[in-house]
Amino acid sequence: MLKILSVSDQVDPRVYSDSLLERYGDVAFVISCGDLSYMYLEFILTTLNRPLYFVHGNHDPKQEFNPGEPRSYPLGADNLHRKIIRNHDILMAGVEGSILYNARTPYQYSQSMMWNHVFQLVPGLFYNRLVHGRFLDLFITHAPPRGIHEGPDWTHQGIKAFRWLINIFQPAFHFHGHVHLYRPGEEKETVLGNTRVINTYQSRITEVHQDLQGSPSSVLG
Ligand SMILES: [Zn+2]
Repeated sequence: MLKILSVSDQVDPRVYSDSLLERYGDVAFVISCGDLSYMYLEFILTTLNRPLYFVHGNHDPKQEFNPGEPRSYPLGADNLHRKIIRNHDILMAGVEGSILYNARTPYQYSQSMMWNHVFQLVPGLFYNRLVHGRFLDLFITHAPPRGIHEGPDWTHQGIKAFRWLINIFQPAFHFHGHVHLYRPGEEKETVLGNTRVINTYQSRITEVHQDLQGSPSSVLG
């Protein structure tokens, strides 16, 4: 069993705390689905001393001015956008940003630009299948897939290309953010074929079997 901490959209006081190491010191790595300050992510990374993989959200700035040097991403973390990364034999791939709704922030894309991002991943997914016996374990994005956990407005619509990737390549998990959860009982996890689609809003611990192929995976909220 492998524990993964995922975060997005809102600072979670359980994470931004002196007891972070005590509480989550046993995670293998950390995933950020975006819209969080780089300073917060650096706090998590340096406190836990574990790899942190991220995609940018639509609210992420090109430059964040914290104490010290301005930065365009959390220092020490790995950007998963249009990349496939393997850690602890877990295969991860990511796509940043939300649907295009204005020109004010850099990480917004039309549906057709999102198709382009997803197609970029496809050769690597086939390589995974050949070498590792499966296409993908974790798909990490900021926006949700089309038809799942979408908001009612234009800005929070799901991405068609993400839904296609889930249908074809069936990763064990799709972690996303972008859609804020305000009420208890709002849907944050949906099973689609072999894929658990999870809105990781604030923070979440997920336990996965390292042999993901064909084995059921359990999730802790
Ligand atoms: Zn967002």
